[in-house]
Amino acid sequence: MAVAQVIIDIPAQQTNRPFDYEIPEELSDIAVPGVRVLVPFGRSGHLRQGFIWRTQDKSEFAGRLKPIAQILDLDPVLNAEMLGLASWLAEDTFSFLISCLQTMLPSALRANYQRRFYLTAPLAENDPVNQLLDHEASGLIPDKIDSALLAHLKRLEQSQQLRIEYQIKQKTKIKQEKQYSGCLQMTEYQDLFNQARANAVQQRQLLQLLVAEPSFAGNVKTWQAQLPELKSSTLTQAVQKGWLKEALVEVYRQPEVESVTTTKQQLTDEQQAAYEAIIAAISDAQNQTFLLEGVTGSGKTEVYLDAIAYARQQGKTALMLVPEISLTPQMVERVQSRFPHEVAVLHSGLSIGERYDEWRRIERGEAQVVVGARSAAFAPLKNIGVLIMDEEHEGSYKQDDMPRYHARDVILKRAETYHCPVILGSATPSLESRARAQKGRYQLLKLTKRPNQIQMPTVNVVDMRQAEKVAGKSDFSLQLITEVKKRLERHEQSVLLLNRRGYANFIMCRDCGHVIKCPNCDISLTLHRDIQALKCHYCDHQEPIPATCPACHSSKIRDYGVGTQKIEQQLQELFPEARLLRMDVDTTSRKGGHQRIIRQFGRHEADILLGTQMIAKGLDFPEVTLVGVINADTSLSLPDFRASERTFQLLTQVSGRAGRAAKSGQVFIQTYNPDNYAIQLAAKQDYETFYQTEMRLRHQGGYPPYFYTVLISVNHAQEDQAVKKVYQIQRWLQPKLSPQAIVLGPTPRMITRVNNQYYYQLIIKYKNEPRLLIALQTLIMNMQGKNNRGFQLRIDREPLQF
Ligand code: ADP
Ligand code: ZN
Ligand code: ZN
Repeated sequence: MAVAQVIIDIPAQQTNRPFDYEIPEELSDIAVPGVRVLVPFGRSGHLRQGFIWRTQDKSEFAGRLKPIAQILDLDPVLNAEMLGLASWLAEDTFSFLISCLQTMLPSALRANYQRRFYLTAPLAENDPVNQLLDHEASGLIPDKIDSALLAHLKRLEQSQQLRIEYQIKQKTKIKQEKQYSGCLQMTEYQDLFNQARANAVQQRQLLQLLVAEPSFAGNVKTWQAQLPELKSSTLTQAVQKGWLKEALVEVYRQPEVESVTTTKQQLTDEQQAAYEAIIAAISDAQNQTFLLEGVTGSGKTEVYLDAIAYARQQGKTALMLVPEISLTPQMVERVQSRFPHEVAVLHSGLSIGERYDEWRRIERGEAQVVVGARSAAFAPLKNIGVLIMDEEHEGSYKQDDMPRYHARDVILKRAETYHCPVILGSATPSLESRARAQKGRYQLLKLTKRPNQIQMPTVNVVDMRQAEKVAGKSDFSLQLITEVKKRLERHEQSVLLLNRRGYANFIMCRDCGHVIKCPNCDISLTLHRDIQALKCHYCDHQEPIPATCPACHSSKIRDYGVGTQKIEQQLQELFPEARLLRMDVDTTSRKGGHQRIIRQFGRHEADILLGTQMIAKGLDFPEVTLVGVINADTSLSLPDFRASERTFQLLTQVSGRAGRAAKSGQVFIQTYNPDNYAIQLAAKQDYETFYQTEMRLRHQGGYPPYFYTVLISVNHAQEDQAVKKVYQIQRWLQPKLSPQAIVLGPTPRMITRVNNQYYYQLIIKYKNEPRLLIALQTLIMNMQGKNNRGFQLRIDREPLQF
């Protein structure tokens, strides 16, 4: 008997065990690994969606196998490489296979279940279930349903008053449209034209067009582009008369892009050297990783584009990852203009349909160059020639949900499969990558200057302890104000960074010291003036701004600290004539929000762009000659071993926005810690010394990249439960570790309570612990048991934050 091992696609199905199903004779040709199927599952036998993982000719299962009910794909949605990748990913990140498969595929291919109930006996008139009835005897059970009502439904099901069924709503909608094409000879069209009545104006025009071009084809819009008066009914009539052929053709929903023209640059010597090393690896199919360390504006992107062009000449495909598409529209445009019609763009801003269509273009080989954010690492390209990761140090490449993967590891894995090179590019490489280059595992390629004699910006550190200020504007040094004013006079642009959104960081009572905190989290609420509310940045709780202190009723409550909204207000007061744009989470929440602001600034419709770290990446505007950092200390003070690295990266990146073209740039970094090495070295744009200094500190502290780390965290609604569980895990793990492994904790997480869940954690630092890794696989499976309900376990390998 032919047997398929199926991974079931249901959220609660948290196991890596495939289930065996019989392959019915008539499906045997198409029941292959990687296709989606519908199978009866569980005691109820409801149909569920799943993926065929493997096929074989017998089953270990003792009972009678149920048959596969239906096969959903004629061609597998996962090829052999992808199945292998999923298997590796699940193991490497301690994840469930199904969550890996879901991450790798566009969401349109995921199962989307709906629950519907059918009454089998009449309900009492006042039964609350009545409100869910949508037609006479049945109703849809909403995803978000009051738990009391759900419990009531279950009780009714048990007493057989109703029956609950799962329905699978397929989200994959292939978009089709009608295409009309000429199907007769020119002479036949000529005859028809001669016979047509004079008052049939539209028909005559149509025939005239066909006489000129008998095989003209297209959708209604294409025809109307030629014949603006043409009605679609005329086309339908023409089909009925046999003048035209009608067919349904598939069309792709393609995201809109602005078209720009870019020209290929003559590479500088440094660029050329990097390029040659890379293309040698492409043509020899070497699985070599390059670390392209190039100062901001040194032309890394130009090297990527030429490497892609080379891969394409060799008949190969290319993948390029960027941290966040919405923040780098210029990058996407550059790739698209170099490789017209070959590029697919994948990112979270696309609609489900657009994303699915882009995925299919890639899968079918119709798009050979892919640009995308993190999950584009799984783009179903074949025959890959080069894999590129721009700004490889960026935290957004690590996913914060299961599977907790780093896109860098995924592309390195794929490069092994395709025997091709990887380019990791950055002005400020992660210490992990740079250390590998030092060891010779990666090949280091350096770009030390900007092309065309363009100078690096000059950077000034402003000591805010001593700086002269203007009354009432204590967040600005007089120096920075003066510089902004100069730019306004010269019609140049300024970029100002403050890595904190909102108006003020917290509200405190000056009489009793009470700080207003979130009721659900251990964190103070942030003041948002624009919506006149206090907001929690962790759980989105909102409440009105109180007039008096909730603790002592004093009216002396004040806001403290500064966010982008307050700076915006102060800038308006300082420079009433300046045109100002603010870019942070609050101004970009709508679709296309980032792009709108970036484009507006790019067209010089604003003088100042103020924003959080989202303005630090990738922007390339020739008119920007000033970058100001309002407060360099925001990220420095965090209790995190990567705080200095992040600060250095952010300051270097944002400084790199200044003076990228003919006009030279200046940077002013305001700080209360002017002697801090991360700030000093960022000001000198001295990555090398920063790397050496930071590596020494990491070595002393026993941190990555000298150690591997894994974070094990447990959360529960009751604090004592979370504590008990984390100690239980520690006792279980400890005997499996070698004496060289270091266990930190258990400790409460820095912000212990978020959304009324308490978080406790263990951190293990290690060099070589194969038994630990196996134990963690077991742990993740064990935690699914009944006695662990209410707990959530998270295992994060190489976490970005402790
Ligand atoms: P990076 O990716 O390192 O920040 P880019 O590739 O964006 O740098 O290059 C910065 C600017 O320099 C861009 O405007 C780009 O067009 C230009 N540029 C890059 N390489 C060259 C070159 N070889 N000659 C002239 N201009 C170049
Ligand atoms: Zn008070
Ligand atoms: Zn909260």
